[in-house]
Amino acid sequence: MPDTADILRLEGLQVHFPIQGGVLDHVLGRHRGAVRAVDGIDLTVGRGEIVALVGESGSGKTTVGRVIAKLVQPTGGKLLFEDRDMTSVRGFSALRPYRRRVQMIFQDAYQALNPRQNVFDIVAEPLRSLRLVKDAGELASRVSEALAAAGLNPPDEFFARFPHELSGGQRQRVVVAGALVVNPELIVADEPVSMLDVSIRAQILQVLIGLRERQNLTLVFITHDLPLAWLIADRIAVMYLGRLIEIGTADDITFRPRHPYTVALRNATPQVSRDPDRGELAALQGEVPSAAHVPKGCRFHPRCPLAFDRCRQEEPSAIEVGSQHMAVCWLASDLPVTGDLTPPENHHPSN
Ligand code: SF4
Repeated sequence: MPDTADILRLEGLQVHFPIQGGVLDHVLGRHRGAVRAVDGIDLTVGRGEIVALVGESGSGKTTVGRVIAKLVQPTGGKLLFEDRDMTSVRGFSALRPYRRRVQMIFQDAYQALNPRQNVFDIVAEPLRSLRLVKDAGELASRVSEALAAAGLNPPDEFFARFPHELSGGQRQRVVVAGALVVNPELIVADEPVSMLDVSIRAQILQVLIGLRERQNLTLVFITHDLPLAWLIADRIAVMYLGRLIEIGTADDITFRPRHPYTVALRNATPQVSRDPDRGELAALQGEVPSAAHVPKGCRFHPRCPLAFDRCRQEEPSAIEVGSQHMAVCWLASDLPVTGDLTPPENHHPSN
């Protein structure tokens, strides 16, 4: 389990992308509004903790992950790593120590891997570019260890292979090895198993959970899949249209959700849909609106079957609904919890 010290803190994090029309707008630096991809997120992550960011496409979860990995510069708020303000730190040299400690795993192994490099060179690349090894012997042993930790055994059999010679699961393991090779303390994993078969998914999840248990690795796990988040995470943060709308333990969010959006997400997945009394929330209507046109009032109101007048006028505040459990909905304290919502025991893939 995680220790108590926070490794990562996001304070009022914002990423707004300006909308520019034609060439004249570019020349004159004129904006025609902004896409509010991330719009004021507060989140802390404890060392050794697994926090899942869950939401549909367009919720802003990937942008948050890219900010944490320092691949996107926020337009407001703060990113703190061990209390050090990293928000404005830029440039290869200044970021070198951070890149050693924080890595990102991308969803699409086809795109993440250079088809012209063999596995050895792909995994060795961060060690070379961050100048973390003294000689060829140390390089080979670090690459070998990372491939073994990612489940590619025996590692040296994979050194000379190219991405097209690997299965989808093996390619994703190479991506994982490329992140592990620098011995990071925090990994942002963006939909790392969504393109894999179910059996391979479980194996990759076990690799990540094993690393947390052996090395106290911290994981920010980004997914659209609530049951998957429940399987792997200690806590789940649900995002909607650039905002964090509910956060709590994995069991609370999955089995005792207090935001209608989370209930709808939960009811949309047959594995955990156990609440017949919540039929009116079973269908998630429509799609996430564009973050360029955020509705007034509660952002979820155009899709919420429980919306009332106040929801259309006033953005709800965060309401504490339990220990470590917060939901941003006027009804958060009153949303009924009924039916068989008891989580099964030992659901963790490592059990
Ligand atoms: Fe639905 Fe209103 Fe709650 Fe928003 S504040 S989720 S519209 S009930």
